[in-house]
Amino acid sequence: MKTAGRISLIKPSPTLTIQAKANALKAAGRDIIAFGAGEPDFDTPQNIKDAAIRAIEAGFTKYTPVGGTDELKDAVIAKLLRDNGLAYKRSEVIISCGAKHALFNIVQVLFEEGDEVLIPSPYWVSYTDIVYLSGAKPVVIKTNAGDGFKLLPSQLEASVTPRTRAIIINYPSNPAGVSYTLEELGALAEVIIKKGIMVISDDIYEKIIYDGQPFHTMASLGEELKRVSLVVNGVSKTYSMTGWRIGYAAGSEEIIAAMTKYQSQNTSNPTSIAQKAAVEALNGPQDGVAAMVQEFQKRRDVIVAGLNAIPGVTCLKPLGAFYVFPDVSSYYGRSFGGKTIAGSAEMATYLLDEANVALVPGGDFGHDDHIRISYATSMEQIEKGVARIREALLKLS
Ligand SMILES: *Cc1c(COP(=O)(O)O)cnc(C)c1O
Repeated sequence: MKTAGRISLIKPSPTLTIQAKANALKAAGRDIIAFGAGEPDFDTPQNIKDAAIRAIEAGFTKYTPVGGTDELKDAVIAKLLRDNGLAYKRSEVIISCGAKHALFNIVQVLFEEGDEVLIPSPYWVSYTDIVYLSGAKPVVIKTNAGDGFKLLPSQLEASVTPRTRAIIINYPSNPAGVSYTLEELGALAEVIIKKGIMVISDDIYEKIIYDGQPFHTMASLGEELKRVSLVVNGVSKTYSMTGWRIGYAAGSEEIIAAMTKYQSQNTSNPTSIAQKAAVEALNGPQDGVAAMVQEFQKRRDVIVAGLNAIPGVTCLKPLGAFYVFPDVSSYYGRSFGGKTIAGSAEMATYLLDEANVALVPGGDFGHDDHIRISYATSMEQIEKGVARIREALLKLS
């Protein structure tokens, strides 16, 4: 059967593919260390589950307004004010089926053929494909490990053309855990204002940030920035709620209205029950988040030290999120059992086949010298997995 041309522009999410492959091998009895996961390994907190159960029992199981319930919008508005110092009205907020859905809708309503959208790399695997599906062109700005994978104002300025409409920025970042100081953001903001482009800020890892660093979303840098910003966030990562599919966006009334219209013709409202759970996540006790972050930080320290102790591997210390993005390229060109490691894809296949470790090739994030390892797994698995990677790499000659 013939499929539409736009389908050939995109690939299946590489992270979800690796996860599925690892799960299939596990089910077949292989002792796989799953370093591919893009989600916390903690359970959704009980108070949140209880809110969903109460919603079901109360019959809160029908359509809600397309853009989400007022109750959840108000919880989002309160969160944005409390955590980010941002004031929004209900008409400036939309609830979607995950942050990915919010990003997709933003891109669909804003961009079209001829537009360019800037994406600093290493980038989250979905940004480029989401932009392709709108007809616009993703323009990747490659950052350097030497700069801590931070986008420099000079790089941003040099990448803007008359066709540039926006930048999609994500920090703490997936995959490298990059974060920015207020000063660094200020310098980027100056370029954004000067060039008259929009900012789509993916703040999904806002709360998963280490060493007591503060988080500032771009829109909080002043009225001018707020006017050109769309703030995207959700409950998936902060509250271990990836399966519930609740995300949100805040921005100008006009754009939010367009997104609501768009959403009304595809998904309609996000799940009513999940919306009730998200209200509890945002308004309820927040101490579970701090405990989770503390555990992630301990794991980060162990995995970074373990990887850097492998000869020829270098790994920056992430400032947030739950991934590391080590450079393993000194092993490229080497072989084992007649197979040569040409790049990150072969490396990921080799580590899965030889070491039973599932991880994602860095090429999918725009940096082929690297691999992405998720440490959203137990300390025991982390130690075992790093030992296996070490052994497998040292077998290459
Ligand atoms: C996980 C992730 C998302 C998607 O979050 P959902 O709310 O589950 O759709 C968005 N952006 C980044 C960078 C992510 O890692």
